[in-house]
Amino acid sequence: MKYILLFAICLFMTVHRVPAQTKRPNIIFIFSDDHAYQAISAYGSQLAQTPNIDRIAREGVLFTHAMVTNSICGPSRATLLTGKYSHKNGYPLNEQKFDVNQTLFPRLLQENGYQTAWIGKWHLGNLPQGFDYWRILPGQGNYYNPDFISKEDTARIPGYVTNIISDLSFNWLNNRDTCKPFMLVIGEKATHREWLPDLQDLGAYDNVTFPLPETFHDDYMGRDAAGHQDMTVDKTMRLMEDLKVHVDYTKSFFRRFTPDQQRPFAAYYDGITREFDSLHLTGDALVQWKFQRYLKDYLSTAHSLDRNIGRILHYLDSTGLAANTVVIYASDQGFYMGEHGWFDKRFMYEESLRTPFMIRYPGVVKPGTRNDAFLLNIDWAPGILDMAGVKVPADMQGKSFVPLLKGDKGWRNAMYYHYYEFPQPHHVSPHFGIRTAQYKLIRFYGAEHGWELFDMKKDPGEVNNLYGRKGYEQITAKLKVQLKQLILQYDDKDALKEL
Ligand code: CA
Repeated sequence: MKYILLFAICLFMTVHRVPAQTKRPNIIFIFSDDHAYQAISAYGSQLAQTPNIDRIAREGVLFTHAMVTNSICGPSRATLLTGKYSHKNGYPLNEQKFDVNQTLFPRLLQENGYQTAWIGKWHLGNLPQGFDYWRILPGQGNYYNPDFISKEDTARIPGYVTNIISDLSFNWLNNRDTCKPFMLVIGEKATHREWLPDLQDLGAYDNVTFPLPETFHDDYMGRDAAGHQDMTVDKTMRLMEDLKVHVDYTKSFFRRFTPDQQRPFAAYYDGITREFDSLHLTGDALVQWKFQRYLKDYLSTAHSLDRNIGRILHYLDSTGLAANTVVIYASDQGFYMGEHGWFDKRFMYEESLRTPFMIRYPGVVKPGTRNDAFLLNIDWAPGILDMAGVKVPADMQGKSFVPLLKGDKGWRNAMYYHYYEFPQPHHVSPHFGIRTAQYKLIRFYGAEHGWELFDMKKDPGEVNNLYGRKGYEQITAKLKVQLKQLILQYDDKDALKEL
């Protein structure tokens, strides 16, 4: 009786207050961190199987060329919230305070009758605005027994972060105001460094030997910025913090384990340490050993991410929400799985420029669709607003992706990128550039002055810098004109000075 009454009240309110909005979808945006498309089987991964993420693609659309406009964590979140490039939303670097008083898409949803929530990693140096509910990790957060900040307090929650973020999400969904549609961002910590797998996933890839990427032994010839970075598996990746060799459990995040967690964790990694000690590796053999361990830890951490996405999809099935809920899966950027000898992101090269992006939108998207449009992270906020029937503000720089979902072919044929953070961490020189279907032109400035030009069809690994080579004068001049047009279009004054 109580439920019939509640239903009647909802129906009455819906009919009388927002008659045109009764079919507005719920939206769940699952936003992982540093999850490479090379690690997702829907993208043809040779490294791992991700059946639950693949299900979103199978039942929706997979974007093969989704890209970010500044490939690091905080700036990607700022762009998600604002639909703007970093130079317009004031958040070009990590570890600043994001201005939460500017126009944010969740606030516009709120003003138009949506209930909004952000649960999980936020990492914008400030507390969220525009959300009815939020519960966030402080900074990067922890994999084990993480603290969570809410409007009321900061509290430690026992367990493994990816499981906890799902549990908190289900809890909010169970207790939400069912009269309103909702938009929930599930901000995953996985698969950010340092990769700590859930206990049940330790050793998940022990029997696998991963193939080296073709560019693993890149000599960076003709690419000075690539040669001077600090993000190689060889030199930058640390044996203890990153690969858990000779762990000191009194240090850093290793202190967070309970005895019951530390016991199996230490048992596993003591075995790895013994193996490491017995091999006495040096030179390339050591680098290759580190690469294998890196991938094993990274992919074991992703195992829990995929399993929890399965839990989220199952929740939507079992509550009857699936039919009217859009599910988006995205990472904040891509990541290097050993390509160019690297981990991390930042460069405008494909592995970190592109990011996983897929949408399940029942009744609108034909299941199993693939789309190769240059969908950018500035388009995410406009697309979400459009799905919710909310007008997109004129100063958002992206475009709604909804026409793409409905089969529209008209879209940008060139994209603009700008990266800033330098020198720490990872010493990647600031750069901006343009990518078209066939070419990529990058301008490095600051520490490394120079240009790079790649033919993406002939050289998808981006090792052969064609800039200044005979025969490429015309295409270079044409790309520079196009690049300047994009810089003017997006009003990037800093880039204009460096052309
Ligand atoms: Ca990230």
